[in-house]
Amino acid sequence: MRPLTEREIRAAFVNCTKGEAKRLSIPRDLAERPWDDLDFLGWRDPQAPGRAYLAIELDGRPTAIALRCPGAASWQTRRSMCSMCMTTHTGGVSLMTAARAGKAGQQGNSVGAYICSDLACPLYVRGKKDAGVGARMPESLTLEEKIRRTVTNVTVFVAKVAAR
Ligand SMILES: [Zn+2]
Repeated sequence: MRPLTEREIRAAFVNCTKGEAKRLSIPRDLAERPWDDLDFLGWRDPQAPGRAYLAIELDGRPTAIALRCPGAASWQTRRSMCSMCMTTHTGGVSLMTAARAGKAGQQGNSVGAYICSDLACPLYVRGKKDAGVGARMPESLTLEEKIRRTVTNVTVFVAKVAAR
């Protein structure tokens, strides 16, 4: 994806208040992120363990969402599959929920999905990050197809949150 700046990311949040978007933690190493290998940028909030964020381009526009994920205990030992990139980890997948944008979110509406806890799906798909033995099921899909599938899954999820 195209590298994003901190300013672009903060302005791209659709499901939190402007104040929250201004204060939340953006990675300091944006310039060193492997953008060529990223279909989206995902990160955990180092200041708030139960929070994570994801930024992707939706219809050519940067779109970012804030996610909540439970504490470690509930998922730490279970073996589960990321519904975005189809990587299986032991304890590396979290149920993440995002309040929907606008009125729906204010009324408590949210969307949830099982996602790699470190949000590094693009790197797992490309084999640039290892999730351990048995992490990938044998599939006849090419790398391109797996990338496209992951992008589709994330896009659908973010679009649901953004209500677009
Ligand atoms: Zn994943």
